[in-house]
Amino acid sequence: LRRIGVLTSGGDAPGMNASIRAVTRTALYHGLQVVGIRRGYEGLLEGDFVPLTRSSVGGILLHGGTMLRTARCPAFMRPEGINAGVSKLRENDIDALVVIGGDGSFRGAKELHDRGIHVVGVPGTIDNDMAGTDCTIGFDTACNTALECISKLRDTASSHDRMFIVEVMGRHAGFLALETGVACGAEFVLIPELPVDLEAIANKIHYAKQRGKTHSLIVLAEGVMSASELAEKLKGHCDYDPRIVVLGHLQRGGAPSCFDTVLASRLGAAAVEALIDGKRGMMVGRTKDEIVTVPLETAWTQHHPLDSDMLRLVETLSI
Ligand code: ATP
Repeated sequence: LRRIGVLTSGGDAPGMNASIRAVTRTALYHGLQVVGIRRGYEGLLEGDFVPLTRSSVGGILLHGGTMLRTARCPAFMRPEGINAGVSKLRENDIDALVVIGGDGSFRGAKELHDRGIHVVGVPGTIDNDMAGTDCTIGFDTACNTALECISKLRDTASSHDRMFIVEVMGRHAGFLALETGVACGAEFVLIPELPVDLEAIANKIHYAKQRGKTHSLIVLAEGVMSASELAEKLKGHCDYDPRIVVLGHLQRGGAPSCFDTVLASRLGAAAVEALIDGKRGMMVGRTKDEIVTVPLETAWTQHHPLDSDMLRLVETLSI
């Protein structure tokens, strides 16, 4: 192993910069050269490479986003695209690659591994929807960002006797909605994993109102339906006129939390060490505070379950 590449791919997540820094510095520490590949697999296909030095990753540790930028690259979903990626890596003498991204990015990484490229994945996505790790880089920060926004909404909701529906990210997974829902004391958390019972929501709101509760908060994962759709549906069931807030890309931004910065640093370093140890086609993760190395496909072939205790908590604590 002489020269390794690093890229960020898919949705950006706070903490990706800390990982790029850890990958770079760990590799340099072990006498390896490092090449940054800009804009994920798109930059790989275009040969958009930049040498990374000790100082080029200085000052980025606590910056949100990713200095290498990121992209979704449809061309890389086809065999010709993947083969072109393999050629680019070989032409540029890149012996191994660290891919920082979500499960889609890991599927791409597995394709490279199957074609003989040495790859290790670092799980970075605000969705937390990957198996093989208890938490992904960016999830904690996104939860904190959503919580900060929602706590502001709570102030105005209670002052004006309002119902707010807050739409958070999560097309297929409810981790972000559930975590922030518990943290902000939401009355309801609606997630893609569970069916929506409008009647039950309306009944609960009705009884809460009878008890003197004048406002309520619903945290909705985007994958269930849009906030405006839910507001429309609820209007037929209760006498609130819900206000809607879509947090959208706000959730991706901002400086990483302490937790994410440490996680990203540990996982970035572990990825390089895994490559040095001869591990191939693997991802690094954090399970019960241990850094683990498991096959890349764990991320999407296994199931990362939602904590059912958390679901019960929403119910119990919002009476
Ligand atoms: P996030 O969950 O934060 O959106 P992600 O990594 O899952 O991150 P995707 O858009 O699913 O984001 O994937 C990122 C990129 O990875 C895609 O644009 C594509 O270039 C590549 N990719 C995804 N799936 C595959 C696949 N099956 N084969 C090859 N490449 C893939």
